[in-house]
Amino acid sequence: MNIDEKLQPILDDVIRRNAGEREFHQAVEEVLSSLGRVIAKRPYYADNALIERICEPERQIIFRVPWVDDKGQVQINRGFRVQFNSALGPYKGGIRFHPSVNVGIIKFLGFEQTFKNALTGMPIGGGKGGSDFNPRGRSDGEIMRFCQSFMSELFRHLGEYTDVPAGDIGVGGREIGYMFGQYKRLTNRYEAGVLTGKALFHGGSRARKEATGYGATYFVQSMLQTKGDSFDGKKAVVSGSGNVAIYTMEKIIEFGGKIMACSDSNGYIVDENGIDLDLVKEIKEVRRARISEYARLKGTGSHYIEGGSIWDVPCDVAMPSATQNELTGKDAATLIKNGVIAVGEGANMPSTPDAVRQFLEANILFAPGKAANAGGVATSALEMQQNASRDFWSFEETEGRLAKIMRSIHDSCAETAEEYGAPGNYVLGANIAGFVRVAESMDALGVI
Ligand code: GLU
Repeated sequence: MNIDEKLQPILDDVIRRNAGEREFHQAVEEVLSSLGRVIAKRPYYADNALIERICEPERQIIFRVPWVDDKGQVQINRGFRVQFNSALGPYKGGIRFHPSVNVGIIKFLGFEQTFKNALTGMPIGGGKGGSDFNPRGRSDGEIMRFCQSFMSELFRHLGEYTDVPAGDIGVGGREIGYMFGQYKRLTNRYEAGVLTGKALFHGGSRARKEATGYGATYFVQSMLQTKGDSFDGKKAVVSGSGNVAIYTMEKIIEFGGKIMACSDSNGYIVDENGIDLDLVKEIKEVRRARISEYARLKGTGSHYIEGGSIWDVPCDVAMPSATQNELTGKDAATLIKNGVIAVGEGANMPSTPDAVRQFLEANILFAPGKAANAGGVATSALEMQQNASRDFWSFEETEGRLAKIMRSIHDSCAETAEEYGAPGNYVLGANIAGFVRVAESMDALGVI
């Protein structure tokens, strides 16, 4: 990635002051590599250390999470919340429970979230949290006790006007319920707007669960439309089999596409007849089992491949929806060789810088995560809106608003790319449009 010479010292400084935080360096480098054109056009953005301030989180909280497992043994995990930027609204962003979580991962996610949230046009700042707790194989009681302990510290840093978490990898409706329950006990407030992704009876929003996957599919649909094309009859590969992947597949099927493969961290399944989504939902949402079960239960036409790369499966549209850096330069080369026409990132930063470069050079329609997967957090903001007005909207009403927001994010990325002399480059468009919104808001607040 090429960085403007005025911006290189900022990146050097971020790397020096955040030693070892590889993913955070990668996310900052990716955004800074788009900003050369901005400061050339509007030099005042390079004044007042505005970019340096945007790269520095407002607050970082790291805490001990002790809990007791089913054997009566005390376990210790580490909890994080990085409150990255509140220029546009309360900190907003999910909580991730995964053994790979560390401060660098949470910082990269919080940094991305800040621009993503800005792109939605909703009044939300950026933040992210999580823990290195591994939920795999843990009982319901263990999950509950962990969530309660996690919230016993985190609650003092939250509030509907301060910081509003939601889910991410390893955190879904069940975990949000336990955390909301603990928040309510500790504060003696039924403050529904403090968390999003809640169950309907706690003030959750219809279509929130579906929103990230649906939104990413709407975004790719808009990109295809710019070429007079659509999902109809297209073969798609969607990595992952969590919340984002499942509802991406659902929308692609509704739009007339066929899902060839999906995966989990152990391997992937291919189904020549198109993935049976009801079976995937049963395995992942009900049984909480591994995706290898699919081939065992389905039989003919399907097979499971342990390890390997899901991107070896030929497709027209690829939607990486599992985790960061899951799609490498080698995978990108394979996809291009196999004739991929569009790539939409459902996960956060799933393509490595080398992969992104290859997609852009090959003129593939490429939707970066911070734009394509913004539908989840946008619908979280709609949930906050419903909570503030004590209202509940229908599924159609909520999905309609989501579709409109995704269209507007698409258009603003496309127009910004055009304005800055790189038509069709959604990476540049998303980075610049998100940055400009955050930067202008910060600047107007004085030196913050
Ligand atoms: N974790 C999701 C994301 O990466 C959703 C965050 C939210 O709804 O606050 O955007």
